[in-house]
Amino acid sequence: MHSNILIIGSGPAGLTAALYAARANLEPLVVRGLQPGGLIATTSEVENYPGFVEGIGGFELADNMEKQAARFGAQFKDTLITAIDASVRPFVLDTDSGERLTADTIIVSTGASPRKLGVPGEERLANRGVSYCATCDGFFYRGKKVVVVGGGNSALDEGLFLTRFVDELIIVHRRDSLRADPVLQERAFSNAKVRFIWDSAVEEILGGEQVEGIRLKNFKDGTVSEVAVDGVFPYIGHIPNTKLFTGLLTLDEAGYIVTDARQRTNISGIFAAGDVVDHVYRQAITAAGEGCKAAMEATWYLAAQEHAAQKGL
Ligand code: NAP
Repeated sequence: MHSNILIIGSGPAGLTAALYAARANLEPLVVRGLQPGGLIATTSEVENYPGFVEGIGGFELADNMEKQAARFGAQFKDTLITAIDASVRPFVLDTDSGERLTADTIIVSTGASPRKLGVPGEERLANRGVSYCATCDGFFYRGKKVVVVGGGNSALDEGLFLTRFVDELIIVHRRDSLRADPVLQERAFSNAKVRFIWDSAVEEILGGEQVEGIRLKNFKDGTVSEVAVDGVFPYIGHIPNTKLFTGLLTLDEAGYIVTDARQRTNISGIFAAGDVVDHVYRQAITAAGEGCKAAMEATWYLAAQEHAAQKGL
């Protein structure tokens, strides 16, 4: 299968790129990847995406973006890209289904994944009380006591969503002040279900078949304590999904793809957009903006290639 523009990843960056490429009549192919809709689809309420006065659910926003791109001819495929050969034109991409794809241009919008705590018990108890998606799993914690780890917007946003279900929410943060936006801080501080444990790190997640508690270390006085909880939701930032591009695209020291201001990577014809590039803003709206830029650049790149071919250059 050949595409003019192949988009890897289906979050706001990839879906906006798909919309613009489709409206340029280029019939882009979106390879959805492991997390259709991207991280925004796992977010409860999105209140800062312009145009939605009352906010919109993250899943609904991503779903709308996909339907809008599909309306103009974008195609979608549920597979994973396993290898890219950029030494040939068109580019050749292998998939986990064994199908080989080719493309004249590629837009990488693979996003970033939740950072793990990296403590004993986390992996063993994943999906048995350890979850990285309050929107997906919050319902299972009705009447329970859960802990959210982190002090950023995600921790507070998702923690406040959990208070719809849980009896008690503990937010464990490694410092004594939050980095989350003031509006979220105010909501958390005034919510009777929320309790903070400051200057502390989770050292271990405890439990047999299910999460039963956490062991905490306080950085200020060195004390270690155990707290009984039914669930643990780490929200401690993200790592870019760039394993596939190591050795192919230029990455920065944190593993994010390096692009110029026009979303161009070090390889001509490959563009990148969204959280896989941006570790500063990391908003749905900035990802969408970069996706738009990447698609316009890919469109101009294709037009220039066609022009050169016609002239026999
Ligand atoms: P973030 O802003 O990077 O915050 C990560 C939090 O985790 C920080 O409080 C950090 O502590 C803590 N942390 C990092 N590593 C840790 C570790 N190993 N152990 C314990 N704690 C650790 O990440 P985020 O909250 O996921 O947000 C990502 C981006 O999405 C941000 O730009 C954010 O504004 C955006 N976002 C926006 C909204 C919204 O507008 N409503 C909602 C969600 C996300 P320190 O504070 O000490 O560094």
